[in-house]
Amino acid sequence: MFKAPGVKDRQFAVLGLGRTGLATCHALKRGGADVLSWDEAELSRETARKQNIELVDITRERVWEENKISRLIVSPGIPHLYPEPHHIIRMAMKRGIPVDNDIGLFFHFHEHFKQSKPEDEVPKIVALTGTNGKSTTAALINHVLQSHGYKSAVAGNIGIAVLGLENLEELTHIILEISSYQSEAASRLDPDVAIFLNLDEDHLDRHQGKGGYFAAKRRLFDGANLELAVIGVDEPEGEYLGNNIVSRGQGARLATITNDKSKKIPHYGMIASGKTLTEFSEGKVINTYSMGNNPGLLGNHNLQNAAAAYFACCHLNVPGDTIIDYFNGFNGLPHRSQVVAKKNGVVYINDSKATNVKSTSRALESHHRIHWIAGGLAKNGGIKTLGKSLNNVKHAYFFGHSAKSFALELGQVPHSVFPNLPDAIRAASTNARTGDTVLLAPAAASFDQYRDFEERGFHFIREVNKIT
Ligand code: ADP
Repeated sequence: MFKAPGVKDRQFAVLGLGRTGLATCHALKRGGADVLSWDEAELSRETARKQNIELVDITRERVWEENKISRLIVSPGIPHLYPEPHHIIRMAMKRGIPVDNDIGLFFHFHEHFKQSKPEDEVPKIVALTGTNGKSTTAALINHVLQSHGYKSAVAGNIGIAVLGLENLEELTHIILEISSYQSEAASRLDPDVAIFLNLDEDHLDRHQGKGGYFAAKRRLFDGANLELAVIGVDEPEGEYLGNNIVSRGQGARLATITNDKSKKIPHYGMIASGKTLTEFSEGKVINTYSMGNNPGLLGNHNLQNAAAAYFACCHLNVPGDTIIDYFNGFNGLPHRSQVVAKKNGVVYINDSKATNVKSTSRALESHHRIHWIAGGLAKNGGIKTLGKSLNNVKHAYFFGHSAKSFALELGQVPHSVFPNLPDAIRAASTNARTGDTVLLAPAAASFDQYRDFEERGFHFIREVNKIT
């Protein structure tokens, strides 16, 4: 198990004892630190107690006065600035105590490795961000690196705490999926390869708008040791960021990615469109790869992910043709464009992770003759901006909290409203004909009726399995 270096006899407060908080407590304690751990939820405190983590109520001013806390480590779900700072974060800030998270700590420890180990024993770090596609791209990079014989692992927002990686010190590569919450709070972000996939409106309350959201994400590119910057340039923010890398002059190499085949690639980059990856250098085509019908990477959005993975893996010395071969062995992640059944000539797809409008429109653009099942806790703006991607929808079936508002926003497309997911699935399967697709792409969060998108996706699969 990982033992945090350079923390002996220092005191840390850890707020939030979910997966990342618990892993942080253990790693710090193994390294000899004194850890004051707390969570406001009794259930989480109970879990911590069972893991022999001693709890200290850091909501009490006295605890801060009587101790020498060097740093407060917070979980990503806890707001540190917007809509307003959590009251415990305020307590640290007013005393000038740095607020950080497990990702920031990890990069400090990584720097420690660099100072104390031979270069070839220090893992290379790929960090990636974007509104959509992070987990898929992280998993794809990991798949390629492991297929090539590297000892790599994924961690971060994908649901695996980086400080909880069992064999962290033996790894050759670590792929970190970083959410905007994580990048905003991390005191240090210093990857070797950084990837920015795309940007759309999401989580805006935590960043006081889109500008704050982008500012959080672009922090990934400010590290001193960045060797390669991979940037999706289909939104102005990506274009700006790519340009900014070029204008810095020396430093990281830039690789740009676009889904738009009419776009020019002035430097090094890739057009990812129509099942083909076309690689450019200095404006000229240098490689063309056909991606075929890989079920794990369906749709243009997954070509964007594949292009990002390609550049990262090329940089890490996997040959281009070999990377494309390895892609064929990638099965995709559950709950993202996941084909779960074919019944009576109808394909059933679980895209429960399509929780925002952009990922939903990508799903709708990837299929035809769709019976579209959607609904849940709507995000700002609902589904008003789906536009042309609705052309592929034969009938929409809305359920949950947003069902009625979605129905009002939809316009001309035929639709029906249901109280729950099973009723929506039954109606869709009754209406669907051979060659049609039944697609769960909710365009909404799951929390009105489910614990998370995974529970919703598994429910979809169970209900589909009942169809005769
Ligand atoms: P994230 O980790 O960023 O949430 P995931 O890989 O889990 O990304 O995918 C989330 C949703 O976005 C899924 O519905 C998936 O089909 C869709 N998606 C995947 N890649 C992209 C992309 N590059 N652009 C837009 N949507 C995408």
